[in-house]
Amino acid sequence: MIDATELKLLKDALDTLDDGFRDLPDFKPDFDAAATADVLRTVAERMQDNYPYFHPQYAGQMLKPPHPIARIAYAMSLWINPNNHALDGGRASSAMEKECILELGRMFGWDGPLGHLTGGGTMANLEALWVSGRLHPGKRVLASEQAHYTHSRISEVLGIPFSAVPVTDDGRMDIGALEALLGEGDVGTVVATIGNTGLGAVDSLQDILALQSEVDFRLHADAAYGGYFGLSDELRDLTRRSYDALAQVDSIVIDPHKHGLQPYGCGCVLFRDPAVGQLYKHRSPFTYFSSAELHLGEISLECSRPGASAVALWATQKLFPLVQDGEFAAMLDDCLLAARRFWSLLQDGEHFVPLMEPELDIVVYAVAAPDAEAASARARQVFDKAAEQDLHLALIELPVELVRSYAPGIDANAPTVTCLRSVLMKPEHGEWIDRIIGILESSAESVS
Ligand SMILES: *Cc1c(COP(=O)(O)O)cnc(C)c1O
Repeated sequence: MIDATELKLLKDALDTLDDGFRDLPDFKPDFDAAATADVLRTVAERMQDNYPYFHPQYAGQMLKPPHPIARIAYAMSLWINPNNHALDGGRASSAMEKECILELGRMFGWDGPLGHLTGGGTMANLEALWVSGRLHPGKRVLASEQAHYTHSRISEVLGIPFSAVPVTDDGRMDIGALEALLGEGDVGTVVATIGNTGLGAVDSLQDILALQSEVDFRLHADAAYGGYFGLSDELRDLTRRSYDALAQVDSIVIDPHKHGLQPYGCGCVLFRDPAVGQLYKHRSPFTYFSSAELHLGEISLECSRPGASAVALWATQKLFPLVQDGEFAAMLDDCLLAARRFWSLLQDGEHFVPLMEPELDIVVYAVAAPDAEAASARARQVFDKAAEQDLHLALIELPVELVRSYAPGIDANAPTVTCLRSVLMKPEHGEWIDRIIGILESSAESVS
């Protein structure tokens, strides 16, 4: 897990950083290294109580290890500990953040968006819905039933009414149902999920955009998980059409800490029209004096934020430019292909019933059983059995009718079915699929 090369690279980077401050009079803060070592040993022991998120046999929740470049750049910047709220607290890291934002915008086909990094997708979506609510006061927010639950909660925080739009069997927003809700006349914002967290389904963005000719609403794309996949060559046609329409939405959220190889604490919100920056206007009696240049805190709801996140992301984007046909895009291709192969192998076997063919890299599968209750119980047993063999999965609770559209043999004796879910978001997953399937099959055999 730990590569000694990484520690060497960190030390070299810190030495270079140090060179920039050699002119200062000598100063060395003191600390008790022995006591620190004692506590650190305890901390490391406690941290052993974790799933092995970094390993390909962790094939459960949406967790991806940061790339070494991100880890090292982040750690290195902690010796400065920049705060990207204001230029006073993080000059270089603020500049890096602005450059990252430009590149992320360019990836979506935008030239000069307004945007910044956030603590995560929740804060980023909060800002997007806050802006939307300011522009369409009192009007409803719509998002699909499979949209992240954060949207209904955020709407509650903002005091904006919210309704969920049903999904079709493929997990995408039901466009007919959306049209009917828009017809009620009080909708201000539609959230299109570009890769929903449960199923990896991508809402049909071009169809949602077409509805804007009838009703004036703001369109926000929550691409927290799926945002980077537009770089891939391997999207299915129906998915590609949604990505090709992304440049036309009003705001986009993407989480570099999901698929962008970053440690947690790195989300991002982008607005196509930089004029929305006016909505953030506020006065601060104690910041923003060092420069007339834009301080990121002037266009962000969060105040203090880790400049380290921007440093890590900048370094990562430098090593892996956000371009089609690049090395980063190839990693995303690998994830898509792994998910597709996993889905087909499950389809060929007899113990599992995979649901919708994956659009991105999430595969959801029911355990074959005569009825919903038995399928749910078996899913939980397979989850435990697989864990005993160091294969870690995730569970998802889905409406029985959605599951039955793929597994009609499952009798509907309960309203929901617990299914298994694997997010195959490590590029190495492809090489581990056969082994993962082997463990799944033997786990299923032992519980059926
Ligand atoms: C993860 C996720 C969120 C929430 O983002 P956090 O970074 O966990 O705060 C919102 N929307 C979608 C689609 C997500 O996948």
